Amino acid sequence: MKTILVTGGAGFIGSHTVVDLVQHDYKVVIVDNLSNSSAKSIKAIEDIVKTEIDFFEVDIRDKDKLSYIFELYKFDGVINFAGYKAVGESVELPLKYYDNNIGGVITLLEVMEEFGVNTFVFSSSATVYGIPEKMPLTEGDKTGAASPYGRTKLFIENILSDVALSSQKWKIISLRYFNPLGAHESGNLGEDPNGIPNNLAPYITQVAIGKLEKLSVFGNDYDTPDGTCIRDYVHINDLALGHRLAMEYMFNKKQSVNEIINLGSGKGYSVFEIIDSFEKVMDKKIPYDITKRRAGDIDISIASIDKAKKLLKWEPRYGIFKMCEDMWRWQQKNPNGFH
Ligand code: NAD
Ligand code: UDP
Repeated sequence: MKTILVTGGAGFIGSHTVVDLVQHDYKVVIVDNLSNSSAKSIKAIEDIVKTEIDFFEVDIRDKDKLSYIFELYKFDGVINFAGYKAVGESVELPLKYYDNNIGGVITLLEVMEEFGVNTFVFSSSATVYGIPEKMPLTEGDKTGAASPYGRTKLFIENILSDVALSSQKWKIISLRYFNPLGAHESGNLGEDPNGIPNNLAPYITQVAIGKLEKLSVFGNDYDTPDGTCIRDYVHINDLALGHRLAMEYMFNKKQSVNEIINLGSGKGYSVFEIIDSFEKVMDKKIPYDITKRRAGDIDISIASIDKAKKLLKWEPRYGIFKMCEDMWRWQQKNPNGFH
């Protein structure tokens, strides 16, 4: 049985990935400082997989504690989700983001190097495509982040590429996620945003349960058929699967690996189409106002997923209704998330 360290495994994407890994016979160890999550998500994972998970409340920048954990286990690979992700906050507090996101990965890589663990998956983001010139977005397209958060992702991708080129022993994949949506279908594990959500889907579900009054649709004058922005939404469990397949791809490779791979659905939905999908699933109307554009939003973002299909044999399994259904079940069962 292979053992995988999942940093940030108490968070949204990490927790779903842990479930997938454990259900496919991996031993998983979670390291998370709980800066943006709750230990209750670990309990939720354990209830789903019916196995105890080894969890360490540790910051990945703490080299001594991280080294101690690497002494306890013989890891076959590491998946890193640990990092801050609020775009707006990163504009106000760039150093916090550079320190945690970049500093965290560097410390983690140093410890991996010291212990001879060289297989690594990194959480990157479609935000690194900046203002795109064409759709769909392929991995070789021009990059250019528009926020300190996005720049941390770009810098880390570059650092990882340098590390992978430095020695044949490294196997590294950066996964560029598009827009994760949905929840575990038990309704017991899902996204638990702090305070008022920044993202569209949790905002909609919180309006639907009455925690928020109405949705603001950020602009209806974009260059799209209905005027609202188009995004590529991908089910959280498909993302989770992508991580396992990325690990397995590297385990099966004799040579070094240095890849960047998009994970999206390859399909685009406008804000109005997302509202409509949720309304059908919930059988209720979502009140909304049209407000001004949000700074930094682009008209359209859709992934080309050819590379993930070819290299990882990954295929998204779930469509937009299943994403909305699962997310709605989670929100109804847990109106206050894990709190
Ligand atoms: P999340 O905040 O739910 O999960 C991140 C986890 O990392 C949290 O549990 C947090 O407590 C932990 N963490 C943060 N800094 C840490 C540190 N120094 N040491 C240990 N733990 C730490 O976020 P998520 O949505 O699950 O995203 C996971 C990763 O994917 C992030 O790096 C994010 O930037 C990236 N990403 C997310 C999205 C998205 O829309 N959710 C899109 C693209 C990329
Ligand atoms: N959006 C919106 N109202 C909200 C949150 C988001 O209209 O309260 C729009 C946003 O302008 C974007 C889309 O929904 O076009 C997806 O935004 P989200 O923040 O979920 O993801 P992003 O693509 O920005 O990472």
